[in-house]
Amino acid sequence: MSLLSWRLHREMATDSCEDAITGLQKLLSEKGDLDDIAAAKIKQLTAELEAIAPKQFNAVERIKTGFAHFKKEKYEKNPALYGELAKGQSPKFLVFACSDSRVCPSHILNFQPGEAFMVRNIASMVPPYDQTKYSGVGAAIEYAVLHLEVENILVIGHSRCGGIKHLMHIPDDCTTASGSDFIDDWVKTCLPAKDKVRRECNSLDIDEQCTNCEKEAVNVSLKNLLTYPFVRERVAKKPLSVKGGHYDFVKGSFELLES
Ligand SMILES: [Zn+2]
Repeated sequence: MSLLSWRLHREMATDSCEDAITGLQKLLSEKGDLDDIAAAKIKQLTAELEAIAPKQFNAVERIKTGFAHFKKEKYEKNPALYGELAKGQSPKFLVFACSDSRVCPSHILNFQPGEAFMVRNIASMVPPYDQTKYSGVGAAIEYAVLHLEVENILVIGHSRCGGIKHLMHIPDDCTTASGSDFIDDWVKTCLPAKDKVRRECNSLDIDEQCTNCEKEAVNVSLKNLLTYPFVRERVAKKPLSVKGGHYDFVKGSFELLES
């Protein structure tokens, strides 16, 4: 095998087309004594590889094309809707959903712009009323309930939730081995859910325990919502109701939980 063939084979055997392209270009520039046929062959191979190489992800391009699609397909086709939304919003729902990229409520429940005021965080947890520790979540609940006067608060748990899995794996003595600055403390918001599952579902395997905990955590969040005086007051007078849901993207199902 000639040196050229050997180097070509070596470059072609690399995992990535991009590496191969870089290698071929280097070969072409370094080996000034290549004859015209060899040089032409290398150029041809490079062009073929470039044609099949996976395009590098370009975040700016993705954002631009994403918005262009939305504008053409949604915004410009619904002038009445967007005209109304320009005047203000009066959503019927405040929704708590996980930050998980697979569980966007606008997709799974087909919420249109203006329909749902949203809070997304790790494992869609509602912490108890605490003006110092949870002012971000508190502000969103206060704004939705007191100013937008939403009629429903929906907390959505979901299948294979990483936040819940993390909670279930925190040692029972609550010591934290990992170097987590935020996650451990945050998911402990729903520690009562983990304790209940450990108590009542100990015979189940860990995946089933996690599924149970995903639902129990929603119940803890619903209880925590009632620690906000303005929520409690409106739930008692009935202009506001709180609901829990569980979205399973493995089975493709959505379950409204009994509260
Ligand atoms: Zn999650």
